[in-house]
Amino acid sequence: MTMNRIPLTISIAFLTILVPIFAEPHREHGAHEHGIASLDVTVDGNKVDIDLHSPAVNIIGFEHSARTAADKARQQAGLDRIRKNLSVLFQFDPSRGCKIKIKDLKIETEQHADHPGEKTGEHSELDGEFEVTCAKSPAGSKLKFAFTKIFRDFNLTKIRVQVMSDHPVSTVIENDEGSVEL
Ligand SMILES: [Zn+2]
Repeated sequence: MTMNRIPLTISIAFLTILVPIFAEPHREHGAHEHGIASLDVTVDGNKVDIDLHSPAVNIIGFEHSARTAADKARQQAGLDRIRKNLSVLFQFDPSRGCKIKIKDLKIETEQHADHPGEKTGEHSELDGEFEVTCAKSPAGSKLKFAFTKIFRDFNLTKIRVQVMSDHPVSTVIENDEGSVEL
């Protein structure tokens, strides 16, 4: 490789990394960052689809593969905590008559060493899909959250929220404060 080709190669590599990050108006999968969950909320008439992604550590307290019965029980307990608190985690305006149900809820473990200093190199992600059907269109109403309240012991403090609707919203909710307009 000649000297003058090196900067070009680096520039191309750099652009390849940057372009996907800035070109997309919303990312379906938020970055894996402990303490932060991400929500994609899509409003379509009387229906709302919600995709939830969170580092598993903030839902169950660990991210290695569940090998023991105790690990598996802790995973189930974390998923149950979501199942039992759906209407608390996602608080729709009561006047819209919204009902939320789970389409898919799982924890997936991947091997990757993107957290320097962590020994295992294993990270797990909670992946949830929810389907909301409302009696009246929720457009214009407020949606509130209680993720910090429900998962305080696992240090889930922030949620990154992207609303796809006639008036798209992109915001970060910290400590359950505030709401997003649908
Ligand atoms: Zn992790």
